[in-house]
Amino acid sequence: MNITNPIKIDFKSKSLDFGVDMDNKGKLIHLGIDYLLEKGTPVYSASSGKVITGFRSSYNPYSFGSFVIIKSKEYYFIYAHLGKRYVTEGHEIQKGDLIGRTGNTGYSYNPSLHFSIMKDDFYINPDLIIEK
Ligand SMILES: [Zn+2]
Repeated sequence: MNITNPIKIDFKSKSLDFGVDMDNKGKLIHLGIDYLLEKGTPVYSASSGKVITGFRSSYNPYSFGSFVIIKSKEYYFIYAHLGKRYVTEGHEIQKGDLIGRTGNTGYSYNPSLHFSIMKDDFYINPDLIIEK
């Protein structure tokens, strides 16, 4: 399955990488990547799938603010700290569809996108599976 980066601009800046120990005690590991972006940057779906709600995970160390979760055959994709969402529960999404815009909602200090990928209850470093 091909997975693309949800941000199309030539960004360089990650404000927080996957696996960072956020509390320096190993109790709050960052299980996604935060991309530092201007507010309103378009966010595109990394995969085809369906928008879901009611997602449950043991990983909820802080508020995602406004977020979208898309379930594909294999993976869950989480897009958080959004300023705008253009999709709601049940929408069928194609890879590359515009699903929202970046914001600064939830536990977020700067306009950014938090992007997580989950499979079988495990979070995967997006950098390992995003097409280069
Ligand atoms: Zn994050």
